[in-house]
Amino acid sequence: GTGYPTRWEDQTKYRGGWVVDGQRQKSLRLRLQGKWGTLSNIFYNPYLPTLDDYYEPWTYDYQNLISAPLADEQPTARAISMVTGKYMDTIEAGPNWDDDLGGSQVYANNDPNFDGASDEEMRQINEINSTVFFYLPRICNHCLNPGCVAACPQGALYKRGEDGVVLVSQERCRAWRMCVSGCPYKKTYFNWSTGKAEKCILCYPRLESGQPPACFHSCVGRIRYIGLVLYDADAIEETAKSPQDQLVMAQRNIIKDPFDPEIIAAARANGIPDSKIEAAQKSPVFQFVKKWGIALSLHPEFRTLPRLLYGPPLGPVQAKVENGVYDNIDSESRLGPLMSSLERSRIPLRYMASWLAGGNEDIIRGVYKKLVSVRVYMRSRKVKDIPDEEVQRALAEGKTTAAEVEA
Ligand code: SF4
Ligand code: SF4
Repeated sequence: GTGYPTRWEDQTKYRGGWVVDGQRQKSLRLRLQGKWGTLSNIFYNPYLPTLDDYYEPWTYDYQNLISAPLADEQPTARAISMVTGKYMDTIEAGPNWDDDLGGSQVYANNDPNFDGASDEEMRQINEINSTVFFYLPRICNHCLNPGCVAACPQGALYKRGEDGVVLVSQERCRAWRMCVSGCPYKKTYFNWSTGKAEKCILCYPRLESGQPPACFHSCVGRIRYIGLVLYDADAIEETAKSPQDQLVMAQRNIIKDPFDPEIIAAARANGIPDSKIEAAQKSPVFQFVKKWGIALSLHPEFRTLPRLLYGPPLGPVQAKVENGVYDNIDSESRLGPLMSSLERSRIPLRYMASWLAGGNEDIIRGVYKKLVSVRVYMRSRKVKDIPDEEVQRALAEGKTTAAEVEA
């Protein structure tokens, strides 16, 4: 789908995030800013999302359901624009619109991640028996190199030293809305009622009292983990300037191993208490990102160094259609198709690489091989229908071990 605001990933339209200038990755600048910095477009910023990009908020004429005069037809509650107060004949977009439409082909065709896909690739993606559906839950990434903070001429946004949470000072905000432009994820919003920018606060009052953020805590699927990681703050700029095909590894390398004696000594020398070093050692995030290498940041090429990371979705369906017949892959040959089907996956590698690896398909292929090998191993443990030599081959292909999978 196109997401929210629509086509938010299209930085030719919105100019969010950072770009590297110069032939030898010399300097980093906000994509939004020209030679004269923010001042050149502070009074007129054509790259802000418009009302149409967000959708025109509406309510319904509920009163009519109660007060309509007696008639042959049921009364209806027509949509009323919350901007103009007038009736709206057609509603064309809304919150979670793509999701609610089940990711319709109309929206899929407008997805910037498919830019450059051939007609044949689009035809395959749109074939009804190969469509795939999953959610991409997005909140603020509390980036290490936040575009929102850098873009604000008022200095109203800041990243807290103690926990890295990125916040907007409601006192300092003067409604320039440069943070909305500077964030490539469009995760600051302007509140037209208060005249201030707002964003996710990572539930910092909960963090301060030792609790996870509310959406992490309440997620029924338990898909969100939170944890402390040690990173090299001096390496932020160099990391953000890395060549595009090396961005994933560079962003992984900035996270340091909390078990390494040299890192522990350096952390202590920088005043980090032992309790935090221990927390970093227990952090599930360290395992997912650094040790197992299966969590990746969304659009690393935006160069804000996001701190929210994603495990790519695995297609739930293991069956296939062959000669028009829908069938389960027979258990004898299950592993082969599982591993080789990555290239023919319903979730195209190219699409996931566009999302999570700056276009580097090798990174995504490696992550998927590991995820599939975990699936094969766990199936062999629970269902016991995959021969051991096949399990070993899967683990080798996934560059993992039984002990790591068990962990
Ligand atoms: S994702 Fe959050 S921290 Fe990162 S640039 Fe956007 S608003 Fe700022
Ligand atoms: S619940 Fe908390 S962490 Fe989650 S999106 Fe809202 S403010 Fe951010």
